[in-house]
Amino acid sequence: LGMPKVPQQVAPRRESRQLKLGHDDRAVLVGGGAPVSVQSMCTTVTADVNSTLQQIAELTASGCQIVRVAVPSADDAEALPEIARKSQIPVIADIHFQPRYVFAAIEAGCAAVRVNPGNIKAFDDKVGEIAKAAAEAEVPIRIGVNAGSLDKRLMEKYGSATADALVESALWECSLFEEHGFRDIKISVKHHDPIVMINAYRKLAAACDYPLHLGVTEAGPEFQGTVKSAVAFGALLAEGIGDTIRVSLSAPPAEEVKVGAAILESLGLKERRLEIVSCPSCGRAQVDVYKLANEVTAGLDGMEVPLRVAVMGCVVNGPGEARDADLGVASGNGKGQIFVKGEVVATVPESKIVETLIEEAMRIAEDMTEE
Ligand code: SF4
Repeated sequence: LGMPKVPQQVAPRRESRQLKLGHDDRAVLVGGGAPVSVQSMCTTVTADVNSTLQQIAELTASGCQIVRVAVPSADDAEALPEIARKSQIPVIADIHFQPRYVFAAIEAGCAAVRVNPGNIKAFDDKVGEIAKAAAEAEVPIRIGVNAGSLDKRLMEKYGSATADALVESALWECSLFEEHGFRDIKISVKHHDPIVMINAYRKLAAACDYPLHLGVTEAGPEFQGTVKSAVAFGALLAEGIGDTIRVSLSAPPAEEVKVGAAILESLGLKERRLEIVSCPSCGRAQVDVYKLANEVTAGLDGMEVPLRVAVMGCVVNGPGEARDADLGVASGNGKGQIFVKGEVVATVPESKIVETLIEEAMRIAEDMTEE
């Protein structure tokens, strides 16, 4: 009968409209089968152009594909043209209360604008003008609903920010733009509770064909936020739902990008780069597996080629895992058997395991680059 085939992706991607963020070679496609993109948000004051551009450069280097900047003041709006021009990746202006900054962002060359239905009462009579300006400039709008700022009317109707309330808010806001023939929209419905968030996105995915921006809002400090985001995004992405993601952490934004990229890599939605397969260790371990795994991870940091490296503590699963990886070590009796593509290439003393693995990794990376 043979082994069942392992699917490349856990589920087919949900069909959605496609948006283009940006107008030049920096543009990123979102939805319509485009790769799921990772985004983050600057923590700098947008009006401080140098700091903002420096942070955008750091985010770009860490793999961020779209960046958002907050625009709470006129000074921030004035900084947008230079930021939009000099950023290496598309810039989204995040606007909550002042419709006039939306026009400024469109004029500034921002790739998209994010508005929040709960906070844009003043927008209602301006939607027609915004739709017209955005359509002419081919600038998509993100309708970003947050549990914390849900429309009062919906809070009264539902009693709290339920999944239905979030979805109704988003679809109502979309309908205001649709009335003006504008459909270049992506949506987010963020909640701090992954259960509510997952349900909201499932409902939204079934109710419209707009691309979806996934986010767990106020996810918390790094560890908790990483777990919550990985669980919530993982559940949705595994069902094919989600076109762009933002991990929200109370941590530097480059960390958000790393977590976002790792979530996509683990579901095969992004090409894997370095993957360390290391065992949890147990009473059979004959080396310090944690130390070894950390040293190998640190030694191979920044490796651009997709490489699977197995670090195993003993001979029980060690040789098997190490053989399946591009490179690996199975330890035992103070020695490490080094495997490359399933073949033992060396047996070295424990003190030489890390340097031998790193040397072999560099050799494999060189071969891969030459191919
Ligand atoms: Fe324990 Fe060996 Fe498995 Fe590591 S590989 S968890 S040391 S049995």
